[in-house]
Amino acid sequence: MAKNIHSTLPGNAPPGAAQTLLALLHAQGEVARLSEREQLYSSLLDSVNAVLWAFDWETRQVLYVSPAYERIFGRPASQVLADFNEWRDSIYPDDLEYAERSLAQVLVKGAVEDREYRIINASGQVRWLSDKCYINQQREGDRVIIVGIAEDITEKKQLEGELQRLATTDVLTQSSNRRHFFECAQQAFDNAREEGTPMAFLLLDIDDFKQINDSYGHQEGDQVLQRIADAGKAVLRRGDLFGRIGGEEFAAVFPGCTAQVAEQIAERLQREIQRLSFSHGEQVYGVTVSQGVTGLGDADESLDSLFARADEAMYQAKRQGKNQIVSS
Ligand code: GH3
Ligand code: MG
Ligand code: MG
Repeated sequence: MAKNIHSTLPGNAPPGAAQTLLALLHAQGEVARLSEREQLYSSLLDSVNAVLWAFDWETRQVLYVSPAYERIFGRPASQVLADFNEWRDSIYPDDLEYAERSLAQVLVKGAVEDREYRIINASGQVRWLSDKCYINQQREGDRVIIVGIAEDITEKKQLEGELQRLATTDVLTQSSNRRHFFECAQQAFDNAREEGTPMAFLLLDIDDFKQINDSYGHQEGDQVLQRIADAGKAVLRRGDLFGRIGGEEFAAVFPGCTAQVAEQIAERLQREIQRLSFSHGEQVYGVTVSQGVTGLGDADESLDSLFARADEAMYQAKRQGKNQIVSS
């Protein structure tokens, strides 16, 4: 190479010109490589749906945000680089205290990887961020720079919420399914025991439901189930639990409620259901239900004993001719 360069230089070139030219060419190659690498980095940063950021802890200055900041927050990066409060003010008010506390923890722990909080972007949309952060202090005494990666996990959160809903809801009636109902009922039972507060349990079974299916078809039966569930949801108050625990069997738990109060709610529900009118072609018909109600007693050591008593009361209602409430 040096030989070739010598041959391309004019004869009167000063001594050392070949070395200078070589150094120049080398530097040009280096610049080209660096700029190629920078382009690669910035296209990588651009394609990730996460904000990489760097923050000077002492001066409270944002030193860097990657291009995704503008996409996720909907605000110009220059503003947050000029004032850290731009980021802070975007945080969903309920999550601000947590976001600040968990950021400060990085000073103690060196890394905080489980931070999740919501922001409100410039269009007023709430977005969930997973914002991991790390201390980037090379040596003791160096200024404390915190670096982080804030990933937009809104879709993941929505999916989780939807999965949670599907796992806890009865598809036909959109009320709690059996497993979820009993999980919540157990919690209510534990709370009532701990706090010495009353609680009541109700079981409801549709009368002669098989006949509805047999006379009008399964689909018609499904509609009856939906309307009964709607009546249950309408009559219950906030804080009460309601679920479909079997084919045509529903249950409710009334935290903080005595059996007497629960019985009044059951009576209202009984009337609401008696008032419902169904039609199938020319045929108009109604449905009735049998209910068993019981209150938490000192001897009840588990939810099961409450459930068993309500079940027994409900079957007594059936034996006594259906379309009635038995309290025990
Ligand atoms: P009783 O008054 O003694 O409660 O009689 P019943 O006919 O209501 O009770 P039984 O247990 O004999 O029949 C319940 C019927 O409920 C049988 C079953 O096919 C029907 N069933 C269970 N789940 C569903 C469902 O999701 N949709 C429909 N349409 N029917 C269902
Ligand atoms: Mg039944
Ligand atoms: Mg029945």
